[in-house]
Amino acid sequence: PTRKMKAVQAERPGGAIAGSNPATLEADSISAWFGDHKVLEGVSLTMPARKVTALIGPSGCGKSTFLRILNRMHELVGSASLSGRVLLDGEDIYDRGRRITHARRQIGMVFQKPNPFPAMSIYDNVTAGLKMSGIKAGREDKDRLVEECLMKAGLWKEVRDRLRQPGGALSGGQQQRLCIARSLAVRPRVLLMDEPCSALDPTSTRRIEETIHELTDEVTIVIVTHNMQQAARVSNQCAFFLAEQGTPGAIVEHGATDAMFNNPQDPRTTDYVNGRF
Ligand code: ADP
Ligand code: MG
Repeated sequence: PTRKMKAVQAERPGGAIAGSNPATLEADSISAWFGDHKVLEGVSLTMPARKVTALIGPSGCGKSTFLRILNRMHELVGSASLSGRVLLDGEDIYDRGRRITHARRQIGMVFQKPNPFPAMSIYDNVTAGLKMSGIKAGREDKDRLVEECLMKAGLWKEVRDRLRQPGGALSGGQQQRLCIARSLAVRPRVLLMDEPCSALDPTSTRRIEETIHELTDEVTIVIVTHNMQQAARVSNQCAFFLAEQGTPGAIVEHGATDAMFNNPQDPRTTDYVNGRF
């Protein structure tokens, strides 16, 4: 199918079973306020399809706020107002007439603290996203999808014999991979990850990183991380956010990961990537 046909497939119910179709996400001059408090200033960043973009920077510089703006999640959790545009393959997800679910369906999110539905079975956790997105799938399609998504999330071998056990019975790292599988079930075109490994041990962290590597043909990834080694290992490009002395968060520097770590142009980037603040 042509790119255009694929895009149409991804839109319609049943698209869950269709092929993946990663998109380029572009933030264009995003500024954001909580009341009078400006927390982001003129953030522009292109996050190319099939690439991993890492967002780095100290706490409080607006990385999570930025991530939530990228899929309109902030409209749920707080009263941030914003200016600027977010383009998904060129289409503004904030265009009037666009429904909020349109963005959320195509742009998934994984959080710091794994949040599977603890009492729900592993199987039902994976398919829960379908229900919430109003996607209907038959039993066989679901079986296939559950296996495929758990496989992609690197969890299938560990849980194939216990799909009826509750999601809450899994270890933290397994729960996070279950959350990734749940996100993948609706065939997102972009996956946003907000410090997905911060609550995990080093072994589980490695598993998630392997999963990220294997997902790059599947979905565009944007990951917030405080772990510089992790940013260096998983990402193709990095953006360094900073909010200096009461000023709003902004991107100081962005570029190819290798250049950001080995040849940063701004002394503040040099300090940050070398752990000096
Ligand atoms: P980061 O993820 O980089 O640590 P955040 O996006 O969480 O940064 O926060 C950026 C700024 O916005 C901080 O000053 C924080 O206090 C403020 N902030 C975040 N969420 C809210 C909210 N719901 N209401 C008011 N202020 C908020
Ligand atoms: Mg944060």
